[in-house]
Amino acid sequence: MEWMRIPMKIHEFQAKQLFNGYGLVVPQGRECKTVDEAVTAYNELSTDLCVVKAQIHAGGRGKAGGVKLVRSADEARDAASEILGKTLVTHQTGPEGQEVRRLWVEEGSQIAKEYYLGIVIDREQQLPVMMASSEGGTEIEEVAATTPEKILKAAFSPESGLSSTDAERLAAGIGIPSELIAQAVEFLQKLSKLFCDLDCSLAEINPLVTTKDGKVMALDGKINFDDNAMFRHENILALRDLDEEDEKEIEASKFDLSYIALDGDIGCMVNGAGLAMSTMDVIQLYGGSPANFLDVGGGATTEKVAAAFRILLSDQNVKAVLVNIFGGIMKCDVIAEGVIQAVKQVELTLPLVVRLEGTNVELGKQLLANSGLPIISAEDLDDAAQKVCATL
Ligand code: GDP
Ligand code: MN
Repeated sequence: MEWMRIPMKIHEFQAKQLFNGYGLVVPQGRECKTVDEAVTAYNELSTDLCVVKAQIHAGGRGKAGGVKLVRSADEARDAASEILGKTLVTHQTGPEGQEVRRLWVEEGSQIAKEYYLGIVIDREQQLPVMMASSEGGTEIEEVAATTPEKILKAAFSPESGLSSTDAERLAAGIGIPSELIAQAVEFLQKLSKLFCDLDCSLAEINPLVTTKDGKVMALDGKINFDDNAMFRHENILALRDLDEEDEKEIEASKFDLSYIALDGDIGCMVNGAGLAMSTMDVIQLYGGSPANFLDVGGGATTEKVAAAFRILLSDQNVKAVLVNIFGGIMKCDVIAEGVIQAVKQVELTLPLVVRLEGTNVELGKQLLANSGLPIISAEDLDDAAQKVCATL
């Protein structure tokens, strides 16, 4: 269920370092954690124009005041003091925002024009697809919604990468000046190679720019990786920044659980992605709203179920819990045992509705009934959803 997993993300400066390793042109820069380091970086880069950039795992920093052009060491100091420690709220951070703990100070570029470049996996074609647009620097979702014809696309095979014909069609199509086409073609092809080599799920450069001194370069960089492939990329796994990740998601991943936060008030524990989706649907059908769901996967142990409960309940919005588990590989009596122990361990006080189905279901229900705990047992998913909604 790869689509349910949280992709691994890295910072812009780390993406640029990976770009650099593949021969993609990026501005020179320094990672800084203090204001003094930012001033030193400005001096060392010894160019008049520098850019002080907040490093958070979210885009839209420019509009939120997280990207500042500076022309002196004093300006670098001011910009760094302002951005470091600030909580940036962008369209990608959610309303709570993200605190800035790191900066990237880089040499400024004389932009001739901004473009958009991105690669995602197209699930219908089952291939990576490169997208390019003349509308750089703006939100691509906006371009896709209003002027989709301005996004050019080319699918490519992971073995051979983007062909030079397609790369040329995209580069020329978005209006890269003819004298820079060769450079752009090389850039696009190298990016397609990076994407496949590193098992990316997204690689986005917004903006890709042409500069007044005739370069094609990445001014921004965002890369997400396929979690399932990280076992073969230790160097990339090392780039993970836990400060940027949701605490509950980190905790869940320790137990090999998938946790997804939503904004209702019913906590859901399920096994399997399909069951998670139908559980959400049926809850909503009966007027309820899920606060989250936690997929315990196939081999749920008591320890895992207990961890799942702790994570579900740490969400303050949760007012009731629905456990909907199909005992296929796992037997229902084992699940019931896990639920009972977990409820005791976490001293659950919220209403709990449990729907079990599958192997040893009668035994499982009996265990719940005899547990002495106020667990509401349900017959089927409709019954479970109605019962949990009725507790609110
Ligand atoms: P985002 O807002 O999080 O996507 O951050 P970006 O790295 O894309 O920066 C936002 C905007 O700042 C870019 O679209 C550029 O217009 C501008 N910008 C970034 N670096 C430079 C630079 O070196 N020179 C100039 N002139 N503008 C820059
Ligand atoms: Mn950007």
